[in-house]
Amino acid sequence: MSNQVKFIGKGTDCQIRFTQSQVSTKHAKVTLTGYNTAILEDLNSTNGTFVDGLRIGKANITPQSRIVIANLPVSWEQLFPSAQPNPNPNPTISPEEQARVKADFQQLQVVYENYKIQQVKINTSVTRKRGIVTVVAALLPGILILGYNLLMSQELNPMIIVSGVGIGGVFGGAISSQITATEQIQQLTDDFNEQYACPKCRRSFGNRPWKVINNVGLCDFCKTKLV
Ligand SMILES: [Zn+2]
Repeated sequence: MSNQVKFIGKGTDCQIRFTQSQVSTKHAKVTLTGYNTAILEDLNSTNGTFVDGLRIGKANITPQSRIVIANLPVSWEQLFPSAQPNPNPNPTISPEEQARVKADFQQLQVVYENYKIQQVKINTSVTRKRGIVTVVAALLPGILILGYNLLMSQELNPMIIVSGVGIGGVFGGAISSQITATEQIQQLTDDFNEQYACPKCRRSFGNRPWKVINNVGLCDFCKTKLV
């Protein structure tokens, strides 16, 4: 039953069919990956696919997820009527495995804190670069007038070339650093989501602070003791 794939939409070839006009012909795809886990993927639908209130491209879902196709709520049972409930949602794990899970969970504190620090660092560097662009933009008319006067009096002056190249360089540098920053944040978040997960079931903890999970002491999903 793993990797069971279903399409959701108005199309006759969809396993989960809707007739409402707000649903696209091939709206979304859902893949069962375990007893209580699936991946929901939007297929460029017009009105979107939502999980827990957020429009998604692709997201992990569980029976607890609030799933909405366009504006129609869909239950887990509608998606997977034949899926058996997990016969053993809280499996007993060996003392060795329990010790490993707890040790791995402790290490996630650093992962979480480091993610927050790196995020701030990248954002700060973008803000600083934006500041430079603003200053140059404010000085630009003055520089142009100066350059024009120099051109009139001395034909081609090296200073005009130097200031032109300088301005171009600062703008170009700032724009490229902003693109790099977006990529950096994306990469950082991807890595974080992969690492910041339950050491037992590998489900991502998302944006929940480590301290909060540490206080709860259990994985929300598989109920394995983490502390
Ligand atoms: Zn878990």
